Amino acid sequence: MLAPAHVIEHIGGVARGAQLGAFGIDRHGLARAVRGGSIIRVRAGVFALPHTPNDIVIAAEHGGSVTCMSALRLHGIWALDGASTLHVWMGANGRVHHDGCPCVSHWYGGATTLGLAPVEDVLVHVLRCQGEEAFFAALESALQQRKVRSTTRLGRSIPASARWLVDLARDDAGSGLESLLRLRLHLLGLHLECQVSLSGVGRVDFVVDGRIILEVDGAEYHAGRTSRHRDLQRDAAASRLGYETLRFDYAMVMHHWPVVQAAVIAALVRAAR
Ligand SMILES: [Zn+2]
Ligand SMILES: [Zn+2]
Repeated sequence: MLAPAHVIEHIGGVARGAQLGAFGIDRHGLARAVRGGSIIRVRAGVFALPHTPNDIVIAAEHGGSVTCMSALRLHGIWALDGASTLHVWMGANGRVHHDGCPCVSHWYGGATTLGLAPVEDVLVHVLRCQGEEAFFAALESALQQRKVRSTTRLGRSIPASARWLVDLARDDAGSGLESLLRLRLHLLGLHLECQVSLSGVGRVDFVVDGRIILEVDGAEYHAGRTSRHRDLQRDAAASRLGYETLRFDYAMVMHHWPVVQAAVIAALVRAAR
């Protein structure tokens, strides 16, 4: 008999007894493995490993898989929202086994099992549950990490009204901040370039419509670059080349977008004069 722990590992860290039966593992074998501590019993007929991620175990207790924002984290994909509420995919006809816990149950159709939902399903759920910005940022992160290789099937799985987001997405985004800026500026009809090298200035975070430099402090690009003197020198060199530099911090871009947007538009109007 194959070791139950070995098979569960192979299946994704959690399994139903019936699935394990197909590998020749019977009730006695499962009971022995539970007693020995190599696997844990999640609820009647559902088993996991001692090191299976907690969210996967809790979703399995509910009878579903981890999806949406919770699954992005487990897939290593950038998530817009830091909230820690568990989002569980129950499938269209699932039966939820919880009372009073704060999880978000998704009754979206499709063939759900236990474990971690596949990346493409997760992205579709993020769009439905969290909206366009969260979807776009997660999609660019997934593309950049080659966790989604073709967007054809994904494009067919989402409403036609959202397909432009798939067309706009790139596979070389350097950060979630960049994805968000690209989307928000695109909606204003503005073009964003990232990590642009300007002679005499060096590499700047972003250039909007070839005119305005955006530097965002607290973004990952700025690790180790905190010298105000150097920033001022760069701004002076950029001005000489005809660029205006606007500086924001990460929180402004993420949470106070109208302020950033107004500043960018005003700078573009000045540049066009
Ligand atoms: Zn729950
Ligand atoms: Zn959700």
